[in-house]
Amino acid sequence: MAPYVPGEQPLPGEKVVKLNTNENPFPPSPRVLEAIRNIDGEQLRRYPSPKADAFRDTAASVHGVSADMILAGNGSDEILAIAMRTFLGPGETLAYPDPTYSLYPVLAESCETRVVTVPWETDWTLPVDALLGTSARAIFFANPNAPSGTLVPRSRVRDLALAFDGLVLVDEAYVDFADDNCIDLVRELPNVAVCRTFSKGYSLAGLRFGYAIAAPALVAEMNKVKDSYNCDAIAIVAATAALADQDYARGTWSAVRAERKRLSVELTRRGFAVIASQTNFLLVSCPGGKAAEQYQALKRKGILVRYFDKPGLADKLRITVGTAEQNDALLGALPG
Ligand SMILES: *Cc1c(COP(=O)(O)O)cnc(C)c1O
Repeated sequence: MAPYVPGEQPLPGEKVVKLNTNENPFPPSPRVLEAIRNIDGEQLRRYPSPKADAFRDTAASVHGVSADMILAGNGSDEILAIAMRTFLGPGETLAYPDPTYSLYPVLAESCETRVVTVPWETDWTLPVDALLGTSARAIFFANPNAPSGTLVPRSRVRDLALAFDGLVLVDEAYVDFADDNCIDLVRELPNVAVCRTFSKGYSLAGLRFGYAIAAPALVAEMNKVKDSYNCDAIAIVAATAALADQDYARGTWSAVRAERKRLSVELTRRGFAVIASQTNFLLVSCPGGKAAEQYQALKRKGILVRYFDKPGLADKLRITVGTAEQNDALLGALPG
């Protein structure tokens, strides 16, 4: 099978402006580091809480749901893998709009699950009827989507979920930078699961923590499938501290949104066509379609962005919104 291809990671000590894997450019909340420092040996000697109870309680209160609607995982990639193993099996079908997160087909293949893809409609509108026509057992998509950065309105996700009798998994990895989210749908509908990560909005990609929010019955099934101790004691403490410090996280989200706006204006001025983004990255078409060349030219100058050599994306670059300094370095390295 073909593996997932992650964005390149610089070697330790290598000096690059890293705008290729959508990490938050700001450090995590100081309370996270403090919580990690306060861990004692006893917490490491023992097994951690199997379902990350402290985290579930905090997430339940932040989102206004019950704790049995929260499933914690070792990154939201693990949540996606657990959902796949719980709800899809050999010979069954997963459907998703294309392009979206390129991990979905890899997870499906590892479960011998068939994949049916449906192209997005014009302007990245969710192709509800075509998805319903696939007779899939589950539909996954990222919202906001990657790599487009676009957000499907909650009402359209609701239309899909109401008409579908399988699982609709809404991967909200970038939702912290967006104007809306689908948590209300989880409260209303038994077949919607939302998944979240600490890698983007909470500046903790190195920690590995993510979670799902779904009806208690869905969470109960996923709990049967997950490893007994899938989240370690350090990650549980750190993620709980990060989620509890909403004020700090919100500060980074609004700084990223302000830079997103500036970067988008400046890139447009330089001849790039920028898709309106609800995330911490921009998908841009390069002048003259020369994305591969532009990617290489930036790389030579020590600036990493993401290039996908795929149909529909080969003329585009995906650029993570960095700090003001990083974005200035990018803009300074571009022609015009
Ligand atoms: C980054 C990302 C994830 C993975 O998050 P982790 O918690 O780091 O595993 C999931 N879905 C999408 C769409 C992402 O971009």
